[in-house]
Amino acid sequence: MERLSQDKINEIRGSVDIVDVIGQYLSLHKNGRNYVAVCPFHNDTRPSLTISPEKQIYKCFVCDSGGNVFTFLQNHLKISYIEAVKKVAEMGRIDLSEYHLEHKVAPIKEEYVALYSMNEEACKIYRYYLNTKLGLEAKAYLNQRHFNDELIDRFSIGYAPIDSVLYQSFKQEGFNEIDMVKSGLVIESSRHFDRFNDRVMFPLHDSQGRIVGFSGRIFKITQTDSKYINSPESDIFIKGKTLYNYHRCKEMTRKEGFVYLLEGFMDVIALYKAGLENAVAIMGTALTNDHIQMLRRITSTVHICLDGDRAGQVAASKAALALLKANMNVKIILLPDNHDPDEIYEEHGSAGLIEQLKKTLSPIEFQMDFEYRQIDSSNYDDRKHFLEKMCQLIHRVNDSLDRDYYIKRLSDLSGFSSNIIEQKLGGMKKIEAPVYHEVKKVTRMIDKYHKAEQELLFYMLHSKEVAKKYEAKVGFMYDDRYRVIASYIVDYYRSHDQLVVADFINRFEKDELIKSVIDISSLSLPLPYSEKAVNEYMEIISLNARKMKKEQLLEQFHYVLDPYKKSEILKEIIDLEKE
Ligand SMILES: [Zn+2]
Repeated sequence: MERLSQDKINEIRGSVDIVDVIGQYLSLHKNGRNYVAVCPFHNDTRPSLTISPEKQIYKCFVCDSGGNVFTFLQNHLKISYIEAVKKVAEMGRIDLSEYHLEHKVAPIKEEYVALYSMNEEACKIYRYYLNTKLGLEAKAYLNQRHFNDELIDRFSIGYAPIDSVLYQSFKQEGFNEIDMVKSGLVIESSRHFDRFNDRVMFPLHDSQGRIVGFSGRIFKITQTDSKYINSPESDIFIKGKTLYNYHRCKEMTRKEGFVYLLEGFMDVIALYKAGLENAVAIMGTALTNDHIQMLRRITSTVHICLDGDRAGQVAASKAALALLKANMNVKIILLPDNHDPDEIYEEHGSAGLIEQLKKTLSPIEFQMDFEYRQIDSSNYDDRKHFLEKMCQLIHRVNDSLDRDYYIKRLSDLSGFSSNIIEQKLGGMKKIEAPVYHEVKKVTRMIDKYHKAEQELLFYMLHSKEVAKKYEAKVGFMYDDRYRVIASYIVDYYRSHDQLVVADFINRFEKDELIKSVIDISSLSLPLPYSEKAVNEYMEIISLNARKMKKEQLLEQFHYVLDPYKKSEILKEIIDLEKE
């Protein structure tokens, strides 16, 4: 089977008109040469989304989302890139049965290749040992915890024996010791040895399903050190960007319409045992913005189920607020008796766990219950203070039915009448805009260099000649994003004479790069380009590059102590000034 080539993908994109496709989901109005619609990617009633039939791209002037027909389907239907390609192919009646449609995976950076391979290799080795004599006790422990073979396979669970088997094997395969230590799998002190020994091993994956680390659990009563040890953070394992099970849960999450957010990977596995596959877990950190972005890509509704203890509830409350601020729907599940999902499964089985997970609370109900449990309900002052605190929350609720429901509940808990609560709420200043729904337009300061880079890119998108000039004379942009885009443009022209923006953006994995390209291509600058303007841009950019380089060198000059190196740096600075 053939892989989908860039040309085939362009053919698929060209087989439909973006106006027809977006028109299936949004109501469009003609506005001059373009069409406009109410943008589905932010909260609005005015039409801020513009669709250009000429360029086959769309762009929102409020929330900055933009792209081609694939990007639109991806974001609107929350599907993967490859699924969007398939969908468009269907619409355009292009047969893909002869193609191998694997998920598009971003190319791995050279320096990380060894780290990924070592983690992959470690997983194989651990899995092997689980099925040897050395792994018998670990296997017995897993079976006793209701891990059958299917489950062990699904989560690639293994066993790390007492000896340093990874170090030995990595050495044989020629990995260098620096990389081994970087991977976190090997520790260096007076000698090298494996980080994990005599533990049941659970691999951790990144959003694309590559193994980036492990969590190891003790399993014998005689073992006294920490219950879990995780790989340390590394270049490829960043806790704030890792959600356990994320790569496996996408399909079921889309199907179910929401995802469970849990505290640990054992909880994810407990839910799986109960037949629920739409679950992820944070890895011992608070919920970060990167996590929220990851969740947004697959769903708009999150059911938070963190541990029932106080720390877990504080975390749940914070996570709920962060998700609400990101315009997501949130439900909170409060498990009884400080239990976590794993414990509930052990005690009450699938049915018991599922029943508990169905008991969802809105964030306000949750907050009310949580605060109520902190007070002494027999104390009048406590109840009064509780009532006042809760009125601050209910006050923000605009829906009158919800409001009525919360007032009744607050009345039940606090012992004050609904009438009094309503009077109190009536006396509070009305809040017009709900806190959670503001869309901030990010305006970036655009300085002279930035502007020059942006405008030069605009002309590079339009002309191979300009791109060639850039490559020959400048080859550098200060803005990280622009530098990447510029190198992609140069590369694109190696096989094309003209650049089609709607096709070009298929080469990018990251949304922000796509947005930048759309932004730049939407600038209204005079065409064709003038030689003079392009030369000016290039001069400004080179000047800036030299300036940055000089600043860097000066900084180095100050902290380098070696007089020989100092003189080398000085020479470089002088050379720069001569240019
Ligand atoms: Zn928008």
